[in-house]
Amino acid sequence: MSDTDSYGFDTLQIHAGARPDPATGARQTPIYQTTAYVFRDAEHAAALFNLQEVGYIYSRLTNPTVAVLQERVATLEGGVGAVCCSSGHAAQIMALFPLMQPGCNIVVSTRLYGGTVTQFSQTIKRFGWSAKFVDFDDEAAVRAAIDDDTRALFCESIANPGGYITDLDAISAISDAAGLPLIVDNTSATPYLCRPIEHGATLVVHSTTKYLTGNGTVTGGAVVDSGKFDWAASGKFPSMSEPEPAYHGMKFAETFGPLAFTFHSIAVGLRDLGMTMNPQAAHYTLMGIETLSLRMERHVENASKIAEWLEKDRRVDYVTYAGLKSSPYYGRVEKICPKGAGGLFTFAVKGGYEACVKLVDSLEIFSHVANLGDTRSLIIHSASTTHRQLTVEQQEAAGAAPNVVRISIGIEDADDLIADLDQALTKATA
Ligand SMILES: *Cc1c(COP(=O)(O)O)cnc(C)c1O
Repeated sequence: MSDTDSYGFDTLQIHAGARPDPATGARQTPIYQTTAYVFRDAEHAAALFNLQEVGYIYSRLTNPTVAVLQERVATLEGGVGAVCCSSGHAAQIMALFPLMQPGCNIVVSTRLYGGTVTQFSQTIKRFGWSAKFVDFDDEAAVRAAIDDDTRALFCESIANPGGYITDLDAISAISDAAGLPLIVDNTSATPYLCRPIEHGATLVVHSTTKYLTGNGTVTGGAVVDSGKFDWAASGKFPSMSEPEPAYHGMKFAETFGPLAFTFHSIAVGLRDLGMTMNPQAAHYTLMGIETLSLRMERHVENASKIAEWLEKDRRVDYVTYAGLKSSPYYGRVEKICPKGAGGLFTFAVKGGYEACVKLVDSLEIFSHVANLGDTRSLIIHSASTTHRQLTVEQQEAAGAAPNVVRISIGIEDADDLIADLDQALTKATA
């Protein structure tokens, strides 16, 4: 599909990036289950390796099924290009890789997916990178955390675990003033609810494992480039602006302009890090994306109903859903994610740790799993699972206090979900 500007989201989520298969006319995007692609002749092969001609060489770098997904996600996010990878965590490393060098740091929000907190606070240290965790509601603290070695700001649009909403306009004003890229994890919102590039994001990362695929079948990730960042202006991003020794001295920013990040991510990132998405995973995710808007509407509708019901219930202390008028983030919904505050939030159960454990064991429709963004409703008691190594103080700071459970509302009948929560709360607080 060519003229993507004039089509609506519902059309693009089905058609963007895809065309009938030129060889067979197959209407659905085939799963190109192949590792390599035959070169027309030696000259063609050389042109591909020189990046003078765009085409397929080897599936660690590019694959036609994955390429359709890349174009689809880029289009839905309003970016110029995207690179898919093996997981959401791979996407985060792929986003940072062209920007960072040993000794560099990133300034990141304290409100992040638990696995991301570990990746940023521990694992990236092995690369000589570091992260400074800051409350992104405190703009002065964000500004103060930036130093000469900072190479990016990182936050989630709708943030874990409580469904808090980041003021992306305020944060991108800070990153712009500092001449730094802003990376936004848009997993919980999806481009249907929030388009971070319109709020100043440079790169958008996704765990496609979650809502984009939607049925909890495959892991995957994506990095979308806005194409708007000037990589040469500050001299801080030599891998993008200077001759890159890992690609025979190619100057990516000069050669590829707005597509520099995308080409770098494929030619150097995927080639050398190998965090590649396989075509089967791309197929499942393409299937999922076709119904993204329909599912997100239902996720939001159900989450709103259930959050309102829980907030009124005497067995519940508080509910963090940003779509509730009582939420301090309610005012940001219209600005940042006008179609709704997503399907993810936490609530505190009277009776504390013991009651939470009984609650998750008593639910029948909700599954007790470490996942989110499934058609199925999911629940996790973080203090006894994902956050059990932390002290109570650390759990509280992370929004995962012992009396708190996180739920990811699915697209089942809201009345059934409420009845399930009702019977389980009765058992939990008896
Ligand atoms: C799940 C998740 C990730 C990590 O993605 P994986 O696909 O599990 O590697 C990152 N960010 C957020 C917000 C997530 O929900």
